[in-house]
Amino acid sequence: MGITDKIKENIKVKIQRNLDRNYITRVLNILGSKPVLSTYGSTFSSQSDKFLNIGSIRILKKAYSGKYPVGFGSLFLAHELFHSLGIVPFLPEVMAGFTAGLGLADKTLKEASSRWYTPDLCTFHRSASGAVELDLFPKPDFIICANLACDAAQKTFYIDAVRYGITGNYYLIDIPFEKSERTVDYLAEQLEDVSKDVCKKQGKNLDMDRFSETISLSNKFRSWAIRVNEVRKKLLLYPKNFNGLNFILPFHGLAGTKEGVQIYKNIYLELENFLSRQENSADKTCERLAKTKKILWLHLRPYYKNNIFSMLEENNYRVVFEEINYVYWPQLDPEKPFESLALKMLSNPLNGSIQNRVNAIVEMSRQYSIDGVILFAHWGCRHSNGGARIIKDSLKRMDIPLLVLDGDCLNRNNSSEGQISTRLQGFMEIIDSKC
Ligand code: SF4
Repeated sequence: MGITDKIKENIKVKIQRNLDRNYITRVLNILGSKPVLSTYGSTFSSQSDKFLNIGSIRILKKAYSGKYPVGFGSLFLAHELFHSLGIVPFLPEVMAGFTAGLGLADKTLKEASSRWYTPDLCTFHRSASGAVELDLFPKPDFIICANLACDAAQKTFYIDAVRYGITGNYYLIDIPFEKSERTVDYLAEQLEDVSKDVCKKQGKNLDMDRFSETISLSNKFRSWAIRVNEVRKKLLLYPKNFNGLNFILPFHGLAGTKEGVQIYKNIYLELENFLSRQENSADKTCERLAKTKKILWLHLRPYYKNNIFSMLEENNYRVVFEEINYVYWPQLDPEKPFESLALKMLSNPLNGSIQNRVNAIVEMSRQYSIDGVILFAHWGCRHSNGGARIIKDSLKRMDIPLLVLDGDCLNRNNSSEGQISTRLQGFMEIIDSKC
């Protein structure tokens, strides 16, 4: 076990033993202090991981500090809205992923069950709700939620609002099914109304300069993220432990911040360096890399220890791109922040017809010369799993096999490791037989 893993394990055990919000705040205060953060940062073997961890610790420290207004936001919202309003975003679904990484999901899920949360509800929401019931999350001042892709957020977030006694500060943003000029205006109007109301409740005026600044930073983040994705079109030689499925917090929650820009700039610099190494590598490595099979990953991954990625690597398979890292929105206009954020959300391929998601997957498969696609069918995600058959048929027409891997991103008891290994093995055999 390396030093970073030892530190992480130590933190994990301590949090498991002292499961309360004050203790988490104390840990974040220590970890987030400048000297500790820079020492901790230097233990990471990859720059991408280092900046990801530093950025995540900083925003969490802020959220737990009690010094700033905090807003719960559902994952697919444009979180630039929070940064423009001076609210620290806290993403319960993403934090539910952390509960699995910290080995807390058994407790949070048990708590949710004891409060009658139905077991067919997605475990991201169940675990987050359990964490709310156990009072592990920072107390929100606002809860803003969009009915984009996820059918669970609007309900569980409302229950959270009741639990915290802030139903007056709960906002549900209605995302239209179609993308058009009319729907952009409809959504922009809602974002402006919510923003004005949030400011009124804080005794502030809407600061349009801050909105412009945030949108400009979001554009910078977008342009680095596009560069990262460009490099990855050729990249097969990755930094140790790099996993594109780890970047969901900065991709959503830090869009519109300096940290978001810094993280993606540093990922780009590191991956570009690896691409040069790959291009100058010795013949034997070149030969091996030339035989690497390229996988596109759909939806998310298990956040507890599992052997899926090591199994792929051992068989010379590499996840070269993930659906969650697809930059789907155009450059935003800092002069028109509400319309821009509306357009960003309406451009999400998970919104509207399943054909939008299929088109995006087909495009990614072409751009990354994909050999096979894996859809991790997370328990309870009706939206993602409901489209599996249509995606499979569309990819079949391109002669690209799709593996629907049933499992649970958070609850290891709901995933069968043996079955996953057998199905992965079978899938790789299908791809190998085609070459
Ligand atoms: S996995 Fe699906 S149901 Fe669960 S939070 Fe994500 S979109 Fe919502």
